[in-house]
Amino acid sequence: MTRVLVVEDEPQLVRALVINLEERQYEVDAAPDGATALRLAATRQPDAVLMDLGLPDMNGFDVIKSLRGWTRVPILVLSARRTADEKVEALDAGADDFITKPFSMHELLARLRAAVRRAAAGSSLDGTAVVATDEFSIDLVAKKVRRRGREVRLTPTEWQLLEILVGNPGRLVSQRQILQEVWGPSYSSKTNYLRVYMAQLRRKLEADPSHPRHFITAPGMGYRFEE
Ligand code: CA
Repeated sequence: MTRVLVVEDEPQLVRALVINLEERQYEVDAAPDGATALRLAATRQPDAVLMDLGLPDMNGFDVIKSLRGWTRVPILVLSARRTADEKVEALDAGADDFITKPFSMHELLARLRAAVRRAAAGSSLDGTAVVATDEFSIDLVAKKVRRRGREVRLTPTEWQLLEILVGNPGRLVSQRQILQEVWGPSYSSKTNYLRVYMAQLRRKLEADPSHPRHFITAPGMGYRFEE
């Protein structure tokens, strides 16, 4: 059975989440504040955490950082906070995904399933050499990309970008993280670089670059690779 920890201080939302999750055979624990969340995470060892950022006792970012000190459990942030900075801060603190309130239960459940599946499969691609989609395949060891049987030539920068996204399948990676890893710390706000290179990558790999299926933009936040 998959165990989910719901960290949320709004009773109505907690109730809705518990009902919907239990209906789908999840085992649910609920924490109304950060201190309880940290305690339950340690004692109950959940398979995923749904996390509100506005908690009565602690800053949600600190709860995420504290969890990340010892666990890689998938953390999905549920928050009404809408500024891109806050979303990016949550991702940089170690959250796996960000779902903006109000959200549909359908969307939440889909993202939750994806997060649990990824974690079960190993949260990174350690040991995986080839990632294949219906359009292209990437050999991470040989550093080769093939699309419909033909080799695609990537520049070193395109390759680095590809490696970061493909190495975090399904996970939203913040613009800042990508910029820092590919271009370096002083480039963390050069989002125009990123847009240009993402467009190049899509032109080379996506069947329809203007409607990408594999390299998805989360506006103002970052990018996500979907297999
Ligand atoms: Ca709240």
